[in-house]
Amino acid sequence: MYVISLDLGTSGFRSQLIDLEKKDTIKTVVTMGHPLPGGNVMDHLDFAINTGVDVAHGIIIETVGVMLQKFDVDPDKIERIAVCGNPIQLSLFQNIEIRDLAYAGKSKQASLGVENVNRDARIFAANEIFKGIFEMGNCEIIIPPAIKHEIGADALAMMLETDFMAQKEPCLVTDYGTNAEMALKIGDKIITASAAAGPAIEGQGISCGMLAGPGAISDVNVEGDYWRLTVIDSSMNPAKGPLVDPVMGNEIEGSDIVPKGITGTGVISTIALALKEGLIEKLPELPNGRLVLGPGITITDKDVEEAGKAIGAIRAAHMTLIVDSGLKYEDLKYSYMSGATGTYVDANKARRIGSVPDFCENIIQFGNTSLGLARKIALDRAKLDEVIKIAQKIKADHLMMASSETFKNIYMCELASWQNGMPTEMYAQMLEMYNLPVYPKTLTDVNIEKKVVRDIDDVGYLGLDVVADIGITLEAPVVKCTLCHKCEKECPEDALVIVDKDGERFVNIDSQQCLGTSCRRCVVVCPEQTMNHSLLRVK
Ligand code: SF4
Ligand code: SF4
Repeated sequence: MYVISLDLGTSGFRSQLIDLEKKDTIKTVVTMGHPLPGGNVMDHLDFAINTGVDVAHGIIIETVGVMLQKFDVDPDKIERIAVCGNPIQLSLFQNIEIRDLAYAGKSKQASLGVENVNRDARIFAANEIFKGIFEMGNCEIIIPPAIKHEIGADALAMMLETDFMAQKEPCLVTDYGTNAEMALKIGDKIITASAAAGPAIEGQGISCGMLAGPGAISDVNVEGDYWRLTVIDSSMNPAKGPLVDPVMGNEIEGSDIVPKGITGTGVISTIALALKEGLIEKLPELPNGRLVLGPGITITDKDVEEAGKAIGAIRAAHMTLIVDSGLKYEDLKYSYMSGATGTYVDANKARRIGSVPDFCENIIQFGNTSLGLARKIALDRAKLDEVIKIAQKIKADHLMMASSETFKNIYMCELASWQNGMPTEMYAQMLEMYNLPVYPKTLTDVNIEKKVVRDIDDVGYLGLDVVADIGITLEAPVVKCTLCHKCEKECPEDALVIVDKDGERFVNIDSQQCLGTSCRRCVVVCPEQTMNHSLLRVK
């Protein structure tokens, strides 16, 4: 018999087939992107609310169905699937209420009748949601509990799958992703938060960006007069890539592995190295406006600015958690990093640009903690009871960054440095002006430990299968369409096409490629105002 672990991330899904008896990983399947339009949780929420939770749920289940087929096993031999993710992804997967997650205010939730939505652990038959898609007669699905409303199973996973809970010293854990979850622990007190870092932290929204997958540049280092690229190979291991001259744009020495794009950690490394080597004198300006890492792979000033928004949001959220909890910066002793970006990034470079505190003595890098927790529960059903008990014991407070004055002020300083090159001295003066503590000195002697070499430590003996094109098309009628094709030309992702079926006109949109709410250029450009995304349905 088999069990499956499934991590529903904001930027893509990851799943593993595991032999229940031998406990060996057989195969790993990942998607390169999320199947819903948009690159962050707010886009996904907005799509689900406006287009329908049923539609969003259907897209997610169809995608997971594609992944399950890739395992190529008898569906009746799958005994259990354990699923981890943030509350939005887990709610859409189960097709349960999500409006409470969109509206933080209690009075708004009360007016909608969506207060206190139950997100306890749940076990149910797989065929409740997979009937007609990928039927599994003997399979149950296990969803771990949320700690409370906004603190989901992914936050629970990052606390349980690192040393965070056992640590006696003040410590911070961050699951680096499009929505960076984080928690600070001081004695028994835990305060959670999340920073809407945006897709740049995982390489999306960057001109040559891609998610952490085969062919992605994950690190860059100086070698002689040039830069050596590290590129993720087909087994998700960091491998030696080409040697390049990033300023002149030449490849000095080739390699077996050809880079296809750059992931979030590669962007962090590139910026950190460019700062160290004096190639950036004032942020965000690069020599000639760009650095070249390979044929057609460049990092531009605009990319640096985009990455700065993400890195600045994470740094500001870390500082806000520390300041608002009354801890002194210097008293933070441990920082745990999880998620793909938290695993592959060179921690020293992350310290240099501020995505992990440079005043913390110990930095420890873990892998994909969500998939790790899902695996444990899938292999041992009793583990769920243990997780439920721990979740009930965790008395976590949640700090909303959106309403924190501290966050607002620090984030303004971050944006001023990333976008306008505000010098460090002025940053310090601004903090003083806002009555915020002085930023401490950067520590030079720190302990950095990497617990795993790749975010999915063991991809299994059948290896990794990457679903690059999920292949879900959404369709909506465009009744007044005159076939002017302005919407097609306007789409930055080439994600839509207008089709004419015997005089009836429809828009077809590639769900995975569409940028969703944050774009809407096709809606705005339509002279007939006939494009309505709320009418989209799976074709
Ligand atoms: S133009 Fe329309 S279809 Fe294209 S990415 Fe933007 S919202 Fe999606
Ligand atoms: S812009 Fe509007 S009218 Fe023109 S092709 Fe697109 S949907 Fe039709």
